[in-house]
Amino acid sequence: MASHEFRTPLAAINAAADVILRYYDRLNQDDIYQRLEKIKREVKDMTIMLEDILIIGKADSQKLEYNPVEINLVAEVKKITADYQLAESGDREIKVYYATENIPLIADPKWIKHITINLLSNALKYSEKEIEIVIKEENEQVVLMVKDQGIGISEKDQNKLFEPFHRGENVGNISGTGLGLSVLEKAVALHGGKITVESELGKGSTFNVFLPHVN
Ligand code: ADP
Repeated sequence: MASHEFRTPLAAINAAADVILRYYDRLNQDDIYQRLEKIKREVKDMTIMLEDILIIGKADSQKLEYNPVEINLVAEVKKITADYQLAESGDREIKVYYATENIPLIADPKWIKHITINLLSNALKYSEKEIEIVIKEENEQVVLMVKDQGIGISEKDQNKLFEPFHRGENVGNISGTGLGLSVLEKAVALHGGKITVESELGKGSTFNVFLPHVN
């Protein structure tokens, strides 16, 4: 399946390079620039896909790095979100709500960052309105929720969402590999937690990450 998924970007890279090689004396600078940009984009996507495939492989053989320390999930998520907003999200609004300023948790900060950024970037990618993050404590667990008001996910797709390469039938031409959530499921499992989704087509989605509490 993975090798099949690499064929499309490789074909696109090959086609763009072919055009440049064949017509470079007839193309103007902008034509060449656009094709080189396309090649760079495809290479970047392939690199992310390869990294995700490696993570899934390592998770399956229980070789994923996991370095838990005590963190305050609220401070951590606020910082990740602020940094991400500066770097990536332009003027999209991301609101962070939390019950108390300090919600302690034993977790690997690198994975918390990976989980938060992935859920945020999906919310931004599949919606156009405001995004909400909620951090709360519930029945001995800490819950990190990322809510959007975007395209939503059908019930049929919700059942398969965490399988590698599965993409919703309504994604249209929004780009993606269908690997991000599979990686997140493994990362959350490393922490002894679980990830769930609630969604309605056309209305929006909420991803819930449940992590065991520190007593
Ligand atoms: P990708 O976004 O690269 O396709 P993911 O594994 O992150 O891969 O997500 C798998 C699928 O789940 C997506 O293709 C999309 O159909 C659906 N999905 C994920 N997050 C959202 C969201 N916030 N809103 C709507 N659909 C989503």
